[in-house]
Amino acid sequence: EGVIYTELRRPCRTMILVNPQSGRGQALQLFTGHIQAMLTEASIPYTLVITEHQNHARELVRKADLSQWDALVIMSGDGLLFEVINGLMEREDWQQAIQTPLGILPGGSGNALAASVHHYSQSPPAWNEELLLSCGFMLCKGLVSSLDLVSVHLASRQRLFSFLSLAWGFVADVDIESEKYRHVGAIRFLMGTLVRLASLRVYQGRLAYLPAKETLKPPKGSGKDPPSTPKKPSLCSSLPCHLLPNASPKKSSLKNCIDTNLNQNSITKSSNVITNTILEPHRNNKTASPVDSLLPSLDQPVPDNWTVVNEEDFVLVLAIYQSHLAEDLWTVPGAMADDGLIHLFYVTAGISRPALLRLFLAMEKGSHLACGCPYLVYEKVRALRLEPISQQGMITVDGEVVEYGPIQAQVHPGMAKLICG
Ligand code: ADP
Ligand code: MG
Repeated sequence: EGVIYTELRRPCRTMILVNPQSGRGQALQLFTGHIQAMLTEASIPYTLVITEHQNHARELVRKADLSQWDALVIMSGDGLLFEVINGLMEREDWQQAIQTPLGILPGGSGNALAASVHHYSQSPPAWNEELLLSCGFMLCKGLVSSLDLVSVHLASRQRLFSFLSLAWGFVADVDIESEKYRHVGAIRFLMGTLVRLASLRVYQGRLAYLPAKETLKPPKGSGKDPPSTPKKPSLCSSLPCHLLPNASPKKSSLKNCIDTNLNQNSITKSSNVITNTILEPHRNNKTASPVDSLLPSLDQPVPDNWTVVNEEDFVLVLAIYQSHLAEDLWTVPGAMADDGLIHLFYVTAGISRPALLRLFLAMEKGSHLACGCPYLVYEKVRALRLEPISQQGMITVDGEVVEYGPIQAQVHPGMAKLICG
């Protein structure tokens, strides 16, 4: 209900990025075995790009001549799409670039967006090859709708864009610790959950958010006006954070080395010189990237219309903006790709191991909210801030580790385009 679709241009010149290392290392075989013939039959001209290392795809889309492509499709897990979205947002022409329709073909071990997109199409649940076929079919159908992005700010002033989740505590730990079980596929999350349950711990920090029902007004601390009523002191008040776009444009000087040969159905292997950091500072420029009007700078207290959570002892904090956290974790029953919402969950300390396990098992059917668990809280929000107090811990964005420390985020409704439906 209420989803507005446009159609892909025909013929749809498609770049398909494959991470051969994703999942059980079979993404390329899955592509040739299940998707290739489908695309040929649908007369979709595509160029296959096999990534060679982390951030290869990010660098490639940052420099690509996007006028040659009608769609960018990712055959991997969520991590490769995270790279592509951030590559697009780092471009000077980000406003047009992020309009490029994005498609997902599940080839990884964490295929949350693929599972979500399949779910939005109102099809009964599917896994593995069946999920892949469903996503391949959607690509052939070529319907495009909007996708919310969430702008995330880290203490070091880095900014990145997220389409799936921000996690701290239990969920982040499971996601990263279970990477060593990547070879078993999607079941790695269940294995990781069981292992983490055995060493369950509490994470201390402060959480605040802007409830979705609040009217959208800019935060008080964003201008020159002094902070109003004194609030809880900000944890990171000493940090020199300026979150609005700064005025020093720095163009990437790396030469454009992407092979943009549009040989139909060719396989491109470009050998680039690419920096291998997970997160690079956002490249600001004159046109500036989207302004996060809901967020004060990280060294300012949160605005008055935010809710500050009283508890400081958490087992997990999870902000998610799609229906599924993994193929078999239906985390947000009502979520839509462009509902303009961050679905914020947190579990406070005191929950027993069996109760926490029950929540995750119930999530397969999307019934965890009906468990009546008093430690689980769910809020629909538009922005949030998390300030960890525990010295050790892990924060992930879209399943990728980011810098540990104060972090805040706000949603940008419908900023990207998603092949879906
Ligand atoms: P999975 O779901 O199996 O984890 P992802 O798509 O999330 O699959 O990819 C996992 C990580 O691998 C991501 O951080 C991604 O950036 C990185 N990556 C992409 N291409 C390559 C490659 N060719 N070799 C190694 N790592 C890669
Ligand atoms: Mg959403």
